[in-house]
Amino acid sequence: MPDRSYLRWPFLDDEHRTLADDLQAWAAAEIAGLEEPAASDEALDAHCRDLVTRLADGGWLAAATGEPIDVRTLCLTRETLAYHHALADFAFAMQGLGSGAISLFGSDDLRLRYLPGVADGGLVAAFALSEPEAGSDVAQIAMTARRDGSGDYVLDGEKTWISNGGLADVYTVFARTGEAPGARGISAFVVDAGTPGFEIAERIEVIAPHPLARLAFRGCRVPAGSLIGAPGEGFKLAMRTLDVFRTSVAAAALGLARRALAEALARAATRPMFGATLADLQITQSKLAQMATGIDAAALLTYRAAWQRDQGGTVTREAAMAKMTATETAQRVIDAAVQMCGAMGVVSGAPVERLYREVRALRIYEGATEVQELIIARELLKEAKA
Ligand SMILES: Cc1cc2nc3c(=O)[nH]c(=O)nc-3n(C[C@H](O)[C@H](O)[C@H](O)COP(=O)(O)OP(=O)(O)OC[C@H]3O[C@@H](n4cnc5c(N)ncnc54)[C@H](O)[C@@H]3O)c2cc1C
Repeated sequence: MPDRSYLRWPFLDDEHRTLADDLQAWAAAEIAGLEEPAASDEALDAHCRDLVTRLADGGWLAAATGEPIDVRTLCLTRETLAYHHALADFAFAMQGLGSGAISLFGSDDLRLRYLPGVADGGLVAAFALSEPEAGSDVAQIAMTARRDGSGDYVLDGEKTWISNGGLADVYTVFARTGEAPGARGISAFVVDAGTPGFEIAERIEVIAPHPLARLAFRGCRVPAGSLIGAPGEGFKLAMRTLDVFRTSVAAAALGLARRALAEALARAATRPMFGATLADLQITQSKLAQMATGIDAAALLTYRAAWQRDQGGTVTREAAMAKMTATETAQRVIDAAVQMCGAMGVVSGAPVERLYREVRALRIYEGATEVQELIIARELLKEAKA
């Protein structure tokens, strides 16, 4: 049983505590025992769709797709799911990230058309922002959306590293409409899978199972009603969506880190060594102390950011601090857990070996650690000049 004392922190309300307990019990019974899928796109897609259905049937998807999103609920859900099964956390988070722009800024028509399906698991969602030449410097995206005489938009270009690419039914796609240079000339669109001119150019295999693809748009025509928000506001809309979900990446990292600590504690307590157990050795105790303290520090930053967002405040700096600290801490904690498990820690499929692979991408996506540092410093300097 993981340490659950943080649930008593003042950032959380009783509804949050109840949800976390209920989800903990559900996840332990429903998803903890699921194996990693076989190494094929089809098996991975089927596994992820099954997870979305289970999450919908369990009533948990509302936490990612509700309006307004309660960020503390989002974080507790991600943390708990990630503790038990990283792909379940991924499937949950993508329903929210993939539909977040529609929830926050979509027309009534778009909201009615897509949100119920995303919430009941009938539609799988994706968020397509990154491009081959625009990752960290995402305002440089090159994909275009040109309005033609009929009033439709015609999309041309490429997206890459798109989670749920190939599996999703509905994609939020960001493209340059040219109202102004740079970030102010980007708009957001909803594109259905199967729209002529839109195809999956390549599936990409990564370190831990994760449906990922490069998308190609060639003369892909979508009606003007597919525009989310106003023309030229796409970048702002992407950043607002990420502001909510960035804190939740920190929560997912916490779930992975807590699991690693639990595995390390269990192994250290039972592994006979030098006439005692591994846990009796002071070097081990030092490591365990560092792991637990790092997790608590990251959790404090994470739930501070979530709480602040739920109070209606802006959290650009706080979310960046949480994401950076929690993902970097999780990487260190998991590495220490692998070390403590010795050779057993690197056996394929062993819990800490899976965590070691699963945590790595979190320091890169939704803004790499270096990007979070830039955001924090920019906010500090802005305040200093004010
Ligand atoms: C598993 C996974 C899932 C993803 N899912 C999605 C998705 O669903 N939708 C989507 O749109 N994108 C997605 N991405 C893409 C992700 O957002 C990008 O990978 C990320 O923004 C970094 O962009 P890049 O990979 O092009 O790296 P680059 O932009 O080339 O950056 C490379 C490295 O440069 C360093 N760096 C960045 N900025 C600075 C700086 N200012 N100073 C010094 N160093 C710096 C960082 O260490 C960074 O990792 C996903 C990525 C992964 C790995």
